[in-house]
Amino acid sequence: TAELLLKSEKLSVVGQLAAGVAHEIRNPLTSLRGFVQLYRTKIDQAYYQIMLSELDRINDIVSEFLVIAKPQAVVFEMNDIRKMMDDVISLLETEAALRDVQIHAELAPDMPLLYCQQNQLKQVFINVLKNAIEAMADGGEIVIQMEASEQRVVIRIKDNGCGIAEDRLPTVGEPFYTTKEKGTGLGLMICNQIMDAHEGSLRIESRVGIGTTVELILPLHNHAAA
Ligand code: ADP
Ligand code: MG
Repeated sequence: TAELLLKSEKLSVVGQLAAGVAHEIRNPLTSLRGFVQLYRTKIDQAYYQIMLSELDRINDIVSEFLVIAKPQAVVFEMNDIRKMMDDVISLLETEAALRDVQIHAELAPDMPLLYCQQNQLKQVFINVLKNAIEAMADGGEIVIQMEASEQRVVIRIKDNGCGIAEDRLPTVGEPFYTTKEKGTGLGLMICNQIMDAHEGSLRIESRVGIGTTVELILPLHNHAAA
């Protein structure tokens, strides 16, 4: 596991660097966007829209990088993950409804509290659920299941969207790998990093044209608690 350790150390240095750069980019970007808006009536509308959407794209990428910097600042606490999932579902309900996607949560009533970083783990739920919504261009259904044993909690997020080709599965989660026109390809990388910090894991099972299941596995007595 020496190599594994080295890899995660490297990631955190790169992560800190990225977050620093991201922060520095955001401020001038905001001012640039403001000035572009001043030219709204003076330039070709098509060009104007392209400029704005390209600026927004930079902002999206930079914002996702900033998430990487946060883990050091937040603390582990005992949290109700059913409640956390409920919060996230309410947050995404409008977006889901707009895309004709139904979210069904089958949450076990007797879930134990989990020692975790609430906002970070919510970020994982958000990223995974967003991917599920985005995978169903013509609408569909997301089923969320949660179960606990003595050792661990398993959260399953299942969609019946486009799926991921088998030979693409290893690539998914690599920085900047995206198949979406407006994707950043950073969502799953961030999820993996957060799951690592919880000594948990994220597994993806998928079949093209059938759908995708993302499984989040979290230990109940993790070393991160110490
Ligand atoms: P982004 O969503 O910005 O593309 P992610 O890291 O969240 O970046 O996802 C990377 C890629 O993995 C996506 O572009 C998509 O091709 C694939 N993917 C992730 N989740 C799903 C899913 N539920 N169904 C189909 N493809 C998915
Ligand atoms: Mg995503």
